Amino acid sequence: MTNPNKNKARILIVDDEKMNIKVLVDLLKDDYSLVLARSGEQALKFSFQNPPPDLILLDVIMPEMAGYEVIKQLKENDLTKEIPVIFVTALSSIEDEELGLKLGAVDYITKPFSPPIVKMRIRNHLRFVHQHKLLDKLAYLDALTEIPNRRRFDEVFQKEFARATRNGTPLSIGMVDVDFFKQYNDHYGHAMGDRTLQAIAGALENALKRPGDMVARYGGEEFVLILPETNGDAEQVSERARCAVLALNIPHIYSTVSKCVSVSIGIITFYPTKILSSAPSAASVMEQADRNLYIAKQNGRNRVVATVMGD
Ligand code: GH3
Ligand code: MG
Ligand code: MG
Repeated sequence: MTNPNKNKARILIVDDEKMNIKVLVDLLKDDYSLVLARSGEQALKFSFQNPPPDLILLDVIMPEMAGYEVIKQLKENDLTKEIPVIFVTALSSIEDEELGLKLGAVDYITKPFSPPIVKMRIRNHLRFVHQHKLLDKLAYLDALTEIPNRRRFDEVFQKEFARATRNGTPLSIGMVDVDFFKQYNDHYGHAMGDRTLQAIAGALENALKRPGDMVARYGGEEFVLILPETNGDAEQVSERARCAVLALNIPHIYSTVSKCVSVSIGIITFYPTKILSSAPSAASVMEQADRNLYIAKQNGRNRVVATVMGD
């Protein structure tokens, strides 16, 4: 069954007065998917739901937890600090409005309000959020291959490295480099080179199966794999990635190692539990992956070199 609310923006309405909620519900129910909270505590609970609300309409005066306290807590948490909050309140003094905006609200609407104006303000804020999200997404994508870029990799790597260290779970990082790609560009042209990089990115992506796995463009003709919680199968996954590129069957008659475009991969698996006495830095994990790639190149290219850190 299709869910009619699936593509609608989600708005969380927070007010302790039933009547106030009803007015907003009647105004917004046709255009948005609504979540209702009768207290500050409930509002916080719903804000941490996945997916979080796209916008929060927040009353100020509520027993137990005031709207000002709710917004403070939302802004203190990375998961909720970006959710735009609009105060909808009977407090109409300039000082109140100033405080609300200072605490990080995007707008401040005083009751009684004009329904069409409230509707338009909400629409405008949601449009802005949508554009912002789109820009964020673009900022993390490599323009040529449309896979995550270096910036995204750096962020995910830091997170996964911290998680692996905290939980004592293994993490594998693979550096992938196209073999004789300078030759390829020189003979087939830069435009063909670009298309080949796009095809390689797609093949690498398809070779990864687990939800946490990621391939990013590291730069130039280099890609990088992040494989969290690999249990001894990092080499196998890398081998599958290498074969997926070969299977594209893109002719490269100027390569001395294969008739088709190939890649070399250096992969390192880092087991935090094995090396507690001298925990490596994130940088040293990257260095090891690079070193393995260098060895793969030295040993003849079109191959995987995998090692375990702490062995
Ligand atoms: P090796 O097998 O040792 O890796 O040799 P290689 O020729 O691949 O290595 P080298 O680092 O000398 O050359 C990399 C080439 O990748 C040079 C550059 O022209 C090409 N390249 C880097 N980025 C791009 C890109 O965005 N588009 C295209 N078409 N080529 C690129
Ligand atoms: Mg290179
Ligand atoms: Mg290369």
